[in-house]
This record gives sequence, C-alpha cells and structure tokens, in this order.
Amino acid sequence: MNPPETRTVTRFAPSPTGLLHLGTAYSAMYAYDAAKSAGGRFLVRIEDIDQGRCRPEFEDAILEDLAWLGLTWEEPVRRQSGHFADYRAALDRLAAAGLLYPCFCTRADIAAEIEASLQEPGRRTAAFHGPDGFIYPGICRALSADEAAGRVAAGEAHALRLNTGAAAAAAGPLTWEDARAGGQAATPEIFGDVVLARKDTPTSYHLSVSLDDHLQGVTRATRGRDVFASTHVHRLLQALLGLDTPLYDHHAVLTAEDGRKLSKRDKSETIRGLRDDGHSAEAIWNMAMAHAAAEETA
Ligand code: GLU
Repeated sequence: MNPPETRTVTRFAPSPTGLLHLGTAYSAMYAYDAAKSAGGRFLVRIEDIDQGRCRPEFEDAILEDLAWLGLTWEEPVRRQSGHFADYRAALDRLAAAGLLYPCFCTRADIAAEIEASLQEPGRRTAAFHGPDGFIYPGICRALSADEAAGRVAAGEAHALRLNTGAAAAAAGPLTWEDARAGGQAATPEIFGDVVLARKDTPTSYHLSVSLDDHLQGVTRATRGRDVFASTHVHRLLQALLGLDTPLYDHHAVLTAEDGRKLSKRDKSETIRGLRDDGHSAEAIWNMAMAHAAAEETA
C-alpha cells in the first residue's frame, strides 16, 4: 500500500527510442507544470521495456535535454527494464484468476483469420475494429487448457493475452475521470484481448504503465490524447490488480504543419536540433505552448 499522497504527483514517461522532440518536450513540460503549479512532485520514468529499440544514449540525451529545458525531477528515475519481476508477479496474479491465455499466433495467422472472417457474408467489419486497428479475433482463446499448456511446455513462442470479456465481467462497471474530457465509462472491450506480455518482452505498455503509475504514487497521469483510449484498458487492469486510479489529463498532441504527429524522425524538431540552431530554452517553451494552443483551437 502506498502511504496516502495528498500532493499532486505527475510523471513524464518517455521511451528512449530517439531524441526528445518538441512534442515529447511539451508532454514533459505539461507534466512538470501540472505538478509545480499544484505544489506537487514531478517524476520521470524511462519506458524501456522494448530492449530492441531503446538505447541508453537516447535516455542520457533525453535527461540532458530535460535539464537544459530547466526541468528538475525527483531521483531515482524509474527504469522499467529494472522491474520485470514486478510485471511478472502481476501477470501471475491475472493468470491465477484465469484471466490470461497464451497466444501462439503470428501476425500472418491473425491477418489470415481476419481476412477469412471478412469474407463471411453478414459479418460487420466495423465490429472488428478497435482504437489500434483490427482487434484480435480470439483464435487462441478457443484452445483447450491442455493444448495450451502442452504447447507452452514444449517451448513454443507465445504472448499472454487478457481475456478482456471475462475480465470486464469480473470487474463490473468501471469509470475514470479525465481532467479535460470529464467522467468516462470504461469500455476496455473495444480493444479486444490485449497482449499483456509480448513474445519478445515479458510485459507490455498497458501492464507496465498501469502498475508503475500505482507504484510511483502518480495522482495525475498527464499524457498525449493519442493514448486516451488506452485508459479504458488501464482502468480495467487497476480494478483486477487492486491498483489506484489516478486522475487522467490527456493533453494536445503536437502536429507538424501538414497534420502529422511530430516525431523524432524530424531532425529539425528535436530539442537537440533547436538548441544547435541557437534557440533558448524559453523560446522552445514558447514554441511548444504556441503549437499546443493552435492544436486546442484546431
Ligand atoms: N511511454 C509512453 C509514450 O511514450 C507514455 C504514455 C503514457 O504516459 O502512458 O507515449
């Protein structure tokens, strides 16, 4: 149990897969402001579960840019790669409750199943769409417990999926609050059976973010509106695992002139690039705020 936290606690949770850019810097500044304006605490968490794509040099560069922008945060910085045992323990609890199943499907298996079901007359394609595209058609949910256990024992590569329908039924109706969008009824089923442990990584974004926000005592989870819908899944995991539910605060996602989300691939938009071009930290703050204001009114 966390001690009761009366102060606002926010966090910035970058994945070190590239340099900080104007969009992610805005997210950091937003979280920092939300904490500081409430006399609260600001944390940084490195979301480096994807060991194939994350690089320590990007982590160093992100922290250096944040400091250069004038942000200060509490130590220690939590690195998700150092906490795989925490995620494992949470998975074990969900498995013991009968809410996880191993999924052996390849992307090609899933695509073929979706394709086949779309050919069936009378099936509504819309029913298969979730916020991240087509939802998993449940192939491995139908395997018998014996077959699944046998294939796991034989060492077949597998992910672990949440049986979202069973989990939502067990949890009952859930709600969460967004500081801007107001009260929300949780609808995790729109994602279908999400992966909670990937074949190549013994956890997932959904699981680690939900657990870490609780373990770090985050009271206000600020993040981009692009992950708004994920909160439905996070709320369900909180209910299943007995985790606290923070207030959510989904902010504008900065886009480039042509409407694309700003990304680390646009060299000109990295904080490094802007620094090299002679922009001050204050100028970059103003640039990010102006971008965000434009997004709010767009
Ligand atoms: N690591 C996630 C990202 O980079 C954080 C999103 C969140 O705060 O949940 O988008």
